[in-house]
Parts: sequence; structure tokens; C-alpha cells
Amino acid sequence: MLIDISRIKSSTGDVLVIDETLDISELDPAFSDVKVEGKIKNIAGVLTIKAVISGTYTSVCDRCMEDAPVKLESTLDTIFDLNEAKDDSLTLENGKINLDRTAYDALSLEIPMVLLCKEDCKGICPNCGVNLNFEECHCEEENN
Ligand SMILES: [Zn+2]
Ligand SMILES: [Zn+2]
Repeated sequence: MLIDISRIKSSTGDVLVIDETLDISELDPAFSDVKVEGKIKNIAGVLTIKAVISGTYTSVCDRCMEDAPVKLESTLDTIFDLNEAKDDSLTLENGKINLDRTAYDALSLEIPMVLLCKEDCKGICPNCGVNLNFEECHCEEENN
């Protein structure tokens, strides 16, 4: 989705409210429920954007390989100049904000290094391969 900022570009005090649900599955199908809520404001000719970007990222649990959805949130708080400044946190296209790309970049930075389906995931038994969250196995007993 492209956000056209041309109508607030010329007069100071103008505000553009952003309240969008995005589908960025084209960029990465692991993302769902992506939302951007915030405001772009023209303050004395300079555009400032403040927004909260949230979404769900679904990957597999590092311990048991089941789906592990994690909720991510990122805040965008930046000033930008359409003509000069290049701000890495915003992606602009022909003077419009590419919101999909911006949200994708922001949320990607929030993905944790280790993903777990739940904090106390018991994982998979290295011996018999049973998912210990759902089943108990007797490997440990047998070894002892
Ligand atoms: Zn797990
Ligand atoms: Zn086992």
C-alpha cells in the first residue's frame, strides 16, 4: 500500500492519519495481521511520522518444530524530507510512502533469534522423536 503524502506536503499543521491493515504476505508469507497506526504531520514544512507497527510472525519452534506464532511490535518515529534525506526506516516510491515495505522492514528487525511455541516448550525427545508437549516417552526411565 502506498501512502500519498502530497496533500499534506504544502501546508504546515496538516495531519494525515494512518490506520491500515496490511497484507505483506507477498514480501514474506510468515507475516499476518499486520497493522500500522499513527500520524504523519507537517510541522513547519518538515514531515514527521509517528506510528506503531504490529503483526504476527509465524515460524517453527526451535525446540519442537511446531508452529510458533509470535506477536511483534515496532514503533516508527522519524522525520523525513521528500527531496533529500534518505531515511532507512521509511521506503519512499515517487513521493509516496511504501507502507508494506516500511512495515516489513520494521517488523523483520523485531523477530527474535530463538522462536519457541511457548516459553516452557519441552521439545522433542532426541532419542525417540516424540513431541514431549503432547506425549510422554520412557527413554529417560529406560536409560536409568
Ligand atoms: Zn515448541
Ligand atoms: Zn523418548
